[in-house]
Amino acid sequence: MRGAKIMPEKFVFTSNPIEQLEKEYDVVIIGSGSTGLTCAIQAYELGLKPVILEKMDKIGGNTNRASSGMNAAETEVQLANGVVDSFADFYKETYQGGGKLNNQEMLEYFATHTALAIEWLSSHEIELTDLTVTGGMSKKRAHRPASTAPVGAYLIKGLLRIIQKASIPLFTQVKVEHLKKQPSGTQVAISIDEGVQKTIVGRSIVIATGGFGAGSEWIKKYRPELLNYKTTNHSGATGDGLLMAQEIGAELIQMEMIQIHPTVQQDTPHAYLIGETVRGEGAILVSNEGKRFVDELNTRKVVSRAITSLPEKSAYLIFDEKVRSRVKAIEFYNHIGLVESAATVAELAEVLKIDKQNLTSTLAGWNKAVTTKSDTEFGRKTGMNNKLDAGPFYAIHVAPAVHYTMGGIHVDERTRVLDGNGYVIPGIFAAGEVAGGLHGNNRIGGNSIAETVVFGRQAAQQAFVYLKK
Ligand code: ADP
Repeated sequence: MRGAKIMPEKFVFTSNPIEQLEKEYDVVIIGSGSTGLTCAIQAYELGLKPVILEKMDKIGGNTNRASSGMNAAETEVQLANGVVDSFADFYKETYQGGGKLNNQEMLEYFATHTALAIEWLSSHEIELTDLTVTGGMSKKRAHRPASTAPVGAYLIKGLLRIIQKASIPLFTQVKVEHLKKQPSGTQVAISIDEGVQKTIVGRSIVIATGGFGAGSEWIKKYRPELLNYKTTNHSGATGDGLLMAQEIGAELIQMEMIQIHPTVQQDTPHAYLIGETVRGEGAILVSNEGKRFVDELNTRKVVSRAITSLPEKSAYLIFDEKVRSRVKAIEFYNHIGLVESAATVAELAEVLKIDKQNLTSTLAGWNKAVTTKSDTEFGRKTGMNNKLDAGPFYAIHVAPAVHYTMGGIHVDERTRVLDGNGYVIPGIFAAGEVAGGLHGNNRIGGNSIAETVVFGRQAAQQAFVYLKK
């Protein structure tokens, strides 16, 4: 079936029964986020025999929670929307945003392959034809579904359709515990729900287990001061892939680089990330005094720092009915009770118990900045296409929370895992959030989804090259 492209149809996805697990595969892919699923499809289309192992009962990991979009430069979608962009600008802004600590070879590959990744998705009927902007980017690069629905769940669903159509085996509730290199391949020790242990062999391995944002042991080790922060991550984001990679000699890098997301609603036991799109589509942030205090679309590290520097260490995201109509996720936030609303700005101030006059004049000042395209107070340059002037008005209470782990397994731009001396560990690949280096000390919103598709595909291609040698 090499070269055949699999087209999706309507579907209901079910995991394979464990009895179908075979003893050996060309590529054992650990994790069913967008990295793992993309990798499996690419491997299959190259004629390899992949399997996906997922420890949770739910498929999709943190990818499922991604909301804003998938960044890409020089795409047809951008041109169709009058956005003229360049790989060089995308590279430069990501590098700048990452404190110039990004792995430059990885970043170069990334910036020049995102447009191809959008095309590849489109050729599989996963269409990201709408654009928005995220913090730290000067252009509309975040590609999202035409419905403006959150990108992550849409992507997982689209990829699963293809997985099912191609009958690529995917087993849930199968946790990979250890890897052991052998001359014939790598032994993969797994535990199946109910504690059954088994071993299978991967002629190559792709570690796509995601990050460690919910891994308190890792956080304690590398950033103990963050231990009492809430996290936006799913409970399976415990950094298992790091341990298994270490066992076979991999180096871990930039582990202390943990991203705090500035806008997380955490007044309920669960921490809900309020996607950057809300600001990208025009929302502002105000303090308890009802005043703006930062360029809301600066990078996540800058905006988070600005919020934690306020005496109350939290802020209100303020927007109007027009922003609501442009961001589908707001319906969900509203549905689960995270959104305060009022007919007028003054009434909203009353609901929030903040100074009426301050909030009114903040909105007036902001609307003037939008009209004149000049934010003299904080220098904001994006997400300024529309005034906030159409009631009802809305507010979401937000504060920073642990969101993303930039560090991880040391890899090269071919996703090959490296040991402490910089040598390739043959047959072992890592991609997605588990891999370190692409983002430097701050990931730009929209770059993680792009990373999963670009490097998920790359991992499969490199496994192919390795196996055909
Ligand atoms: P990415 O964005 O890099 O694709 P995700 O967080 O979306 O990462 O997905 C990673 C997936 O890997 C999650 O579904 C997670 O449950 C799964 N996973 C993590 N550790 C293991 C493990 N030890 N065995 C199998 N699956 C794992």
